[in-house]
This record gives sequence, C-alpha cells and structure tokens, in this order.
Amino acid sequence: MSLPETRLTYAGSALDRLSEQRGDIALVESLRRDARNFVLAGESFLLAKRGDNFDAGLTNDEAAIAGEPLEAALLGKDTSGRGHFARAIPSERIDAIKARGDFIVVDLRSIALQGLVPPEDQSSLATAKALLFWHERHRFCANCGKPTTPAQAGWRRDCAACGANHFPRTDPCVIMLAIDGEQCLLARQTRFPPGMWSALAGFVEPGESIEEAVRRETLEEAGIPAGRVAYFASQPWPFPMSIMIGCFVEAKSNRLKIDEVELEAARWVTKDECKLLLTGKHPARFFAPPPIAIAHHLIKAFVERGASVFD
Ligand SMILES: [Zn+2]
Repeated sequence: MSLPETRLTYAGSALDRLSEQRGDIALVESLRRDARNFVLAGESFLLAKRGDNFDAGLTNDEAAIAGEPLEAALLGKDTSGRGHFARAIPSERIDAIKARGDFIVVDLRSIALQGLVPPEDQSSLATAKALLFWHERHRFCANCGKPTTPAQAGWRRDCAACGANHFPRTDPCVIMLAIDGEQCLLARQTRFPPGMWSALAGFVEPGESIEEAVRRETLEEAGIPAGRVAYFASQPWPFPMSIMIGCFVEAKSNRLKIDEVELEAARWVTKDECKLLLTGKHPARFFAPPPIAIAHHLIKAFVERGASVFD
C-alpha cells in the first residue's frame, strides 16, 4: 500500500525547482529582486515575527539584517513567481539578531513539531538545511583537495584545479516496520528520548537494493529473517541530508536476537498497544514518534490495515 493521501512533513514542496535553468544567471538575478530568503544560522533558522505568526521566508531587507551569507542557493520559484533562496550565516550572529526582538531563531525539528510555519515552507526549510549542510562540508575537492566554488545557483561545486564537478547528495536510509501476523516490531535506540519506541532503520549501503537493505538491517539489528518487503512512502529527512524510505517487512520468525550496540531494546507490539503509543495514552507513558516522522505513519498504517499493508 502507499500513502498518497497524507502529506509527510518536509515533502510536498509547491516550488518549481527550475532545475534546468539554474545556469541562467539573468533569471536567477531577476528572482533575487523580490525573494523569500530562508536563513540558516548554525542548526537553526531565522523566523520573522508577523503579528502573532512567524514567517520563514524573510524579505530581502530582513535577510540583509542577517548579513552577507556564507553560502546561498536558489530553492525555486513559487506559484506567485517569487524566488525562494537558501542562505547560511555564521551562528555567531544569532545573539545580535535575537536581541533585535523582531526575529526568533528556531531549529527545524521544533518548527515542524510546533507547526510554526505552513507545510510548504517547511519543505523549503528542509531543502535549505540539507543543501547548505552539503556546501559547508564540501569546500574542498574530494578528487584533488583544492578549494571548490559554488556554481549552478548553488546546486554544484566546481574545482578549478582539476575540473571536477561535485553535486549535492542525499543519503538513502531505510526505515522498516517488521510485521509478524498481528504484531509489529518496535525498538529503542539509546539516543531516543525516554519512552519512545520506533521502527528499525539503517543506511542503504553501496551495491545494495532497498529490499536487501531492509532485510539486512532487520536481521542484523533484531535477528529476524525477513521475507516480503513492501514499499510505503518516502520522506526527505534533513538531519543532516537523508531520505527515509519507509517499508513494511514480513518477519519469518519472532525470536528476537538484539544487536545491543545498535539497540537498547526491541519487542513485538500488538495493534491495540500501537494505538496507545500513537495517541499518547500508553499506561507506561511509552509513545511512538510524532506525526512529523514517517515512523508514525508506518505504525498507524499497520494499526489500520494489518497484514494487508503487503497487498
Ligand atoms: Zn579538484
């Protein structure tokens, strides 16, 4: 089954990404004139106060207050024709900006959890965060070690010394809910907040298909041999620059053998208990990840559909 009816947080951008026109300098400059600017300082974004609301898309004048960017990139053009740009500024400027009183500085998770800006702007913020992180970590050529410079409106870095072009990357990560009849497998990583239980997850390795990564991680982390794998949905996850590929996987056994380096605990959970985890009514105060995370929707789909998620 798939999830077309639910918009996952950070997905669903309404922008035209203009991927074929990023080298058109005149176009990019024209989009800058009345831009919305998504400004990242360290791990947090600047939001402008607008009465009782907040706006992540700063005007050019507001962005100028934040100062010259370390890096900038064109995110795209919205339906009204305005350009959206990502800008990174040094985190040392945060205190002075906060002191003005007309901005707040908030990390992306909190922006999403608190619904501080509309969903389509959260998508722009997610793109900005992943892209700007990539720029920060790719200042030098991976081929020859010399400095690189941004090109293509921030969607490439070029090395003048050896001629290599470097493109932004997204790291694929599988997140899978293992199902054994009427139960699903939930686990705790040590870094989770106390009480939170989620699906297993891990990075796809070079040379691996998504299905193979799902089966390998399920076996490695929980000792469960896996059968069928069904794709569910995917979600951009800019922490720092992943895409989460959500799947269901059929467990061929329910005997757990936990990788204690990766996991603190894992156990089989009934649909009824999953409901309590999703609604925050669990007697032990255990809970599932919040709706901003695809894991929430994997668990919810299992509660609603049971083993028919494989159909
Ligand atoms: Zn080079």
